[in-house]
Amino acid sequence: MSYLYQNFREVDMIIGKISKGEKTVKFFVKINCIDCKKTVSGKILASEKYSKTESFTKELEKFKKDYLCGICRDRRRVHKEC
Ligand SMILES: [Zn+2]
Repeated sequence: MSYLYQNFREVDMIIGKISKGEKTVKFFVKINCIDCKKTVSGKILASEKYSKTESFTKELEKFKKDYLCGICRDRRRVHKEC
C-alpha cells in the first residue's frame, strides 16, 4: 500500500482512474516542453487495464500537447501572480 502511494508522488501524471488495489503500470515517455522545447522524460502512471484502451492513448496525446517542464511551470505561476 505504501509502495503504491510512493509511486503516485513520483509520477508527473496519472491517466485515467486507478481503483484501490488495481495493478498499475508506469510509462516513461519522451515529452517536449511546449514552452522551452526541452525534451524531458515524463513519468506516467495508469492502471494496467486502462493502459490498453484507446482512450488512454488519446489522453496521453493530449497530455503531451500541453506539457510544461518544471521550470516553465514555475515561471508561469510567477507570471500569474504579478
Ligand atoms: Zn520548459
